[in-house]
Formats: sequence, C-alpha cells, structure tokens
Amino acid sequence: MQSGLVFNIQKYSLHDGPGIRTTVFLKGCPLCCDWCHNPEGISPEREIVVAETRCAVCGHCREACPFSDSIGGTGVLPARNEPCDYCSKCVEACPTGARQMVGREMTVAEVTAEILKDRVFYEESGGGATFSGGEPLLQSAFVIELLEACHANGIRTAVDTCGFGRSESLLAMARLADLFLYDIKFMDDARHREHCGVTNSLILENLQALARVHSNIWIRVPVIPNVNDDGDNLSAIAGFTATLPGIRQVNLLPYHKTGLTKHARLGHEYDLADVRPPSAEKMEQAAGLFRTTGLNVRIGGH
Ligand code: SF4
Ligand code: SF4
Repeated sequence: MQSGLVFNIQKYSLHDGPGIRTTVFLKGCPLCCDWCHNPEGISPEREIVVAETRCAVCGHCREACPFSDSIGGTGVLPARNEPCDYCSKCVEACPTGARQMVGREMTVAEVTAEILKDRVFYEESGGGATFSGGEPLLQSAFVIELLEACHANGIRTAVDTCGFGRSESLLAMARLADLFLYDIKFMDDARHREHCGVTNSLILENLQALARVHSNIWIRVPVIPNVNDDGDNLSAIAGFTATLPGIRQVNLLPYHKTGLTKHARLGHEYDLADVRPPSAEKMEQAAGLFRTTGLNVRIGGH
C-alpha cells in the first residue's frame, strides 16, 4: 500500500468541486506562484512553522529538542532549526500550539478512512473527495491508489492540479477521477516563468491531452490585479480554453490575502502584500471576456 505526505485534510469544503467535499492537501508543488495561498504545500518535505502571535517565548521547544545542547541559546527555537530530525518533540512541548509540524506521512487506508467518515454529506450534496495540494501529480502513485480506493467505496472524486507533471500520471488519473480542476494563470510563457517559476508549455500540452480523454474539466483562473488580470492575458486564456473539448466550466477565482500570514510563518518573502482583491465589477468584466467565447463561466470556486 502506498503512503504519502499530507499537510491538511479539510472537511466540509465548498470550494473544491460540487457539493460538500473532503479536500486532501498533498505536500510538494513544482510551481512557486507569487500569490500562493497554500505556501505550506510547496516544499515536498515536512516543515515546522511558528505562529509568533501565539508564542509565549517560554523556551519549552528549545528544552525539548534532542539537539538542545549543541544549539544552545534561550527562548523560542527557530522554525528552521538545524540540525533537526523531525521528531516532533518541540511541537509536543509547546503549551500554546504556536509551534506546528506541517506534513504527516499517511497511508492510503488512513486517508480513505478520513474520507469515508463524511460519506453521508457527499450523498446528500453531490460532493465527494478532492485531491489538492501542493500538486497531486508529485505524489501520483499515492493519489492513484486513493482514487481507486474512493472508486471502490462509491465516493466521487476530483483532482485539483496545476498540470505540471508527467502526462502519463495525469492520464492514469483521468481513468479514475470524476472531475479535474485545472489551473491556468498565464498564456505567455515568459510571464508564467516570472510569476510561477516554471514554463507553462507542459501545463498547456497536458491540458490538451487531458481534454481529449476526459469530459469533466473545470478550468480555474486566479484573477490577480496587476499581475494577470489584463485583457490580453484573460482573452488568450479564454480563446485557448474554448478550443478544448471536455471543458464544463471556467471558475474565475478572485485574489485574496489568506496566504500572507502563512508566508510570514514560513519565513517567505511575499511580493503581493500591497495588492488588493479585485472588485466585483472587475470580476464581472473578466467573466464577460470568457463568456464571449461561449464558455460557461462562474466567479468563485464552485
Ligand atoms: S522536530 Fe525534533 S529535532 Fe527538530 S527542532 Fe523539533 S525537537 Fe528538535
Ligand atoms: S514552546 Fe511554543 S510558546 Fe514556547 S517558545 Fe516554543 S514555540 Fe513559543
């Protein structure tokens, strides 16, 4: 049985596909988008985070660490402590919950058991399980077994992907998943490299291959003011998407700042601190660009 690194299992999710869903967030992503609202999912390794606002600076984490003698000092142990063997003793010793471990190794059976706990909600709402991240394609063998387990238990599934991964893995998932949530941020490769860290050519090629074999794909476009919300970019995405079979709808996702605090806890730079969420009028304008191509467009994630 496969196991994988999971950083969150979100119950009662309403934004990751139809109905009430359980969303499994997998650790590791090949992109590093400037606006990422799940930055704790980027690294494929476990990480420790410290919420400074909850830290009592009691030093219990430092005392609990098996490397405390070599580290020395007093007070709060840095989140990125060196050396560290991820034993969790500092997390267990923290009296305020300020110190947390991000990423837990789980088996397919453990994740499936969590998903099955909410079966009744899926049946009543038309929901199911969504595998997100991070990037599910980075843990494809694990995700494929999870999809098989859900299928065997009659649970409908969705895969939320950035599309940057092996096309063989994506197409293997396509044989099992009921729905794909597929992100497009830029059509211009240089802009994609600048803001997401990698080329978009593999993402677009994979989407074309997926659309040939799967008939239930939702395209998700984050709308980030002064980053990718210009008419040229949105029209280019709309034009490309409209040529593909299998696209059921386009979701335009307004930028929000929920990632800001998480980036700070991880010690990341956050270049978009001054960017405000787009207005309702701006979102309607963006939706209008997509509707001119005949696409079914929604503002928001469902
Ligand atoms: S996880 Fe273990 S080794 Fe790492 S900082 Fe905490 S106590 Fe020390
Ligand atoms: S144990 Fe928790 S509250 Fe105390 S210093 Fe460490 S992180 Fe802060």
